[in-house]
Amino acid sequence: MKRHLLSAAMASGAILGAATLATPVQAQQNFITIGTGGQTGVYYVVGQSVCRMVNRVEDANIKCNAPSTGGSVANINGIKSGELDMGVAQSDVAYRAYNGEGTFGEKFDDLRSVFSMHGEPLTVLARADANIEELDDLQGKRVNIGNPGSGQRATMEVLMDAKGWDTSVYSLASELTAAEQASALADNNIDAMVYVVGHPNGSIQEATTTVDANLVPLEGEAVDSLVEEYPYYSTVTIPGGLYKGNPDDVNTFGVMATVVTDADTDAETVYQTVKAVFENFDRFKKLHPAFANLTPEEMISNGLTAPLHEGAARYYKEQGWID
Ligand code: GLU
Repeated sequence: MKRHLLSAAMASGAILGAATLATPVQAQQNFITIGTGGQTGVYYVVGQSVCRMVNRVEDANIKCNAPSTGGSVANINGIKSGELDMGVAQSDVAYRAYNGEGTFGEKFDDLRSVFSMHGEPLTVLARADANIEELDDLQGKRVNIGNPGSGQRATMEVLMDAKGWDTSVYSLASELTAAEQASALADNNIDAMVYVVGHPNGSIQEATTTVDANLVPLEGEAVDSLVEEYPYYSTVTIPGGLYKGNPDDVNTFGVMATVVTDADTDAETVYQTVKAVFENFDRFKKLHPAFANLTPEEMISNGLTAPLHEGAARYYKEQGWID
């Protein structure tokens, strides 16, 4: 089980003693840090799972880690600043970063796609006693619109714009992180939480098992106009029966989760990373129920805005998946 923690270089370092760790006798080891999201979301599992695949390939000499972060926007900013090598980001956020739209002042030309992952519906979960049955009912309520580094905050702002709303429509607009919101809902500090996230996930599970809460359908003109206008938004359904007290399908709209990097990230490292994932794909898909239906064909085409990173493209070409 612990095998992935010990690369060949680390193992020899351990035998020779800690003092030799930095000496040139060891094979060169590359470190890679993948930005994820809150620990009760799915991005965290994406990052951990990619690292698990990469760290088990001893001769790749890559030590991969995937810390919890503020989410999509924080990940893209971290990649831009060089703090992160890769990150998970919503397809709408990646699009805006690459094109310099919204909160991203300037184009991030060097943003590169690695592959896409699961779909992420914009998910609103409300306390049953708050009487929120539809989008318009959020007005006058205490709503957690998300921390500024999160993807849900970015998408919520787009939806609010389409509705002609600002935060004054709520009685309270809180900025809790994804990991904080389930307990805030259960403690009656907020009426509704907002999360752009794959299903099922730990956060909605935690909330629905600690308080009576219902998923809120997001439909109507504003949603239709967003889906019509932007290729990265589509109408989606959260299947019924995934969470306690929520037996019915719920219609909303959503995006894709994508893994992105910078053009400058070492091509061999990116190549080894995608190779580790796709060569252990059955094992990878089992690491989260949201990954169950992934296929390589879709992952290298759907939801990707930025060009493929050259290291990823090299592996996909070798496989004959792209020309
Ligand atoms: N979509 C969320 C974000 O961009 C994260 C969802 C998750 O952690 O699974 O911040």
